[in-house]
Amino acid sequence: MTTEDLSPEKRMAPGTSSGINSLIAAANKHDRFHLLEDQNVLPANLDNPIHPIFWWFDCDGPLQQMLRLASHFLTHDTVLTFFVPLLYGRELTTNDGKAQMTYLSDPMASASRAKRDDLIDGVRQALHCLAHSIEFRFMVPEKRVYARTLTNSSSRVHASNCSSVFQRRLTARIEIADRFLHFYKSEEGYAASSRCAQFRHDFLLASTLVHEIVHAVGVMRRGNLIEPRIRAEHPDTEWGYAWEHFMFGCIINPQDRTRPGTHLLMRKVWADTKVAEEAGGKEYSDVSMSYIAQWFRNETWDIIASRGPRAIRLPIVHFKIQSSHKHGAWIVSANSINIRRDILALHQQWRQQSRKLGANGLPVSNCSRILLRPQTARALQKSNVPTPSRMYRRPRIASTKTRKLKTTQVVTANTKVTVQEADTPANASRKRLVESMTESTTVHKKVKREKGIRSIELHT
Ligand SMILES: [Zn+2]
Repeated sequence: MTTEDLSPEKRMAPGTSSGINSLIAAANKHDRFHLLEDQNVLPANLDNPIHPIFWWFDCDGPLQQMLRLASHFLTHDTVLTFFVPLLYGRELTTNDGKAQMTYLSDPMASASRAKRDDLIDGVRQALHCLAHSIEFRFMVPEKRVYARTLTNSSSRVHASNCSSVFQRRLTARIEIADRFLHFYKSEEGYAASSRCAQFRHDFLLASTLVHEIVHAVGVMRRGNLIEPRIRAEHPDTEWGYAWEHFMFGCIINPQDRTRPGTHLLMRKVWADTKVAEEAGGKEYSDVSMSYIAQWFRNETWDIIASRGPRAIRLPIVHFKIQSSHKHGAWIVSANSINIRRDILALHQQWRQQSRKLGANGLPVSNCSRILLRPQTARALQKSNVPTPSRMYRRPRIASTKTRKLKTTQVVTANTKVTVQEADTPANASRKRLVESMTESTTVHKKVKREKGIRSIELHT
């Protein structure tokens, strides 16, 4: 174990500077990993039609490129497969003696080629139907919410030739944080921004819209906002995350929301929080602009159309940051020695600020420790928690006991669920929350160093 203890005294650092954002900024100093700008990324060349779901938006203005991307997410057979269990799956319940779990069957798994084509056609028709049963609205959000989906009872919205999978008297409303729109409209905003800044903003809004549409599909199908797991092996029931995981193999969010537009993006593995904590803390990795930019190219979508979203490689990890309760520290993993230098500089800065505050008798908040973990480029690509499969697999039955206990319940959502207004209050909603680590920065002073972590330990 290599450990550098640079400051024997344990001091508290000011909370404002101890956050994740300054760590990310130090790790990406001078934008060394091209998380903000990359002169080599090609301009967008999307020229696909905009999906009717999005006709409420101004399709000819600055949102056009974003809407083309959002439409791609809802167009190709290989991406529509995601929606098949949501619309045609049966609810199954397992009970392995610990906890009961409801998930969906995947009709694609055992279907013939012809049947698969029918299912995909059904999805395509259903998504078109959403064009007249979802409304969008830009709103001042509740705190930390990007967007949310609510239900409305309504008079009949569908025609006789409409898809039959949805509840007949229910519509959905998707509310989107108005800061997205402000950036498109502001003079110093989207139009004045670099290609890369536009890509980030378009990418985040397009993926947020489809994330919410996935919830809306569920609401319209089942008539309520209680989502079963899509697959038994999924870490939770969040359908929006399930879609992001299907599409990207990770959850991608910006960290710094204090700036207009969309600042640099970070990603995490879709995993159970407790599992991640036990594995040393949730890992946040960088997402470079080359990864984001490729989504705006026809070539990328040609690949997805023929081979599906798994053919697009995950972003290459240059550094990872964990807020580890177990170690009571931020853990920065990287294989660049330049990062080490800049993290040390940040640490010095925290210490000085802390001293200044202390000397002036001002309260000094949580102490921030940093563990710097050198890792090879290869090791960095590995997640500390298992990632759910992006392909459908039949749920594994762990033991004979499990098999005996397993009950299979089974009603298609369509026949079983009936909706009454009282069951779906208008304020019920599924929300896409802003991901941020800044609120989990509680750091403990006493730490046992564990085997296996080669690290430089910094105290402030
Ligand atoms: Zn319809």
